[in-house]
Amino acid sequence: MDRFTVGEATIHRVEEMTAPMPLAMFGADLVAQNAGWLHPRWANADGTWDMVVQSWIVVVDGRVVVIDPCVGNGRSLPHFPLFDQLDTPFIERFGATGIRPEQVDFVFCTHLHSDHCGWNTTLRDGRFVPTFPNARYLLAQRELDRWNPDLPGYRHVPENAGIFAASVEPVIAAGLVDVVAENHRICPSLETQPAYGHTLGHSVVHLDSAGEQAWFTGDVFHHPIELIHPEIDAGTCDDFAQTLITRRRLIDRFVATGALVIPAHFVAPHVGHLREIEGRRVFQAYGQ
Ligand SMILES: [Zn+2]
Repeated sequence: MDRFTVGEATIHRVEEMTAPMPLAMFGADLVAQNAGWLHPRWANADGTWDMVVQSWIVVVDGRVVVIDPCVGNGRSLPHFPLFDQLDTPFIERFGATGIRPEQVDFVFCTHLHSDHCGWNTTLRDGRFVPTFPNARYLLAQRELDRWNPDLPGYRHVPENAGIFAASVEPVIAAGLVDVVAENHRICPSLETQPAYGHTLGHSVVHLDSAGEQAWFTGDVFHHPIELIHPEIDAGTCDDFAQTLITRRRLIDRFVATGALVIPAHFVAPHVGHLREIEGRRVFQAYGQ
């Protein structure tokens, strides 16, 4: 689904790429136990799952908000070959929504991994410059502290090396950044909320419009199996114990509110609802 509504909000999806990842990262036994509902949508016959890299554009309250602007072209990521030196038509696809980068009011990255902040900037004449020149880029204080190499809270991760310089420093230098605390209200219908663990300052974005709710969950969940088995540790988190607390809290809210779950990496239709049916949790893809 590339365009849908939640209350009075219109949400556009912009895809950058899809890549096969090993299902074994979630644990072979758990994958086997869940095979009945994983295939064919959430698992491929060859032992992979399709990881989609995508951004969300939310139009609500007269504002245009970009959430998680993917990897970007021309990034040097030798320790993460999947995202190294991409050359995709992401910006053309963005424009195909009918929204121009100049119209974006706010950009929010759930966290500062390479695939969630890349198109903050565009490589032009050998320099990374802001992609959204009229936007305020909202950066969570705690996530900034975790990734700024000049601050004491910095922790080095080889896979993400160079991302702060390419995708964050240029928007700071351009004066486009507002550093925000937890629970920052972007506009009346959208609020950032802390969801720590995957990274130390990871956030989610809550949408509440005309009686309908949704959560943009970033990388709290990479795949639906983590909604059913939040204890899965795929080894990609700064602090997995904290991730588990965050997942359980969000899962309870998804079930209680009937909110639409909008993760960063789920395959088509990309979004869905977590329901409790006869005492069991079930992730229902949108439209099912
Ligand atoms: Zn990600």
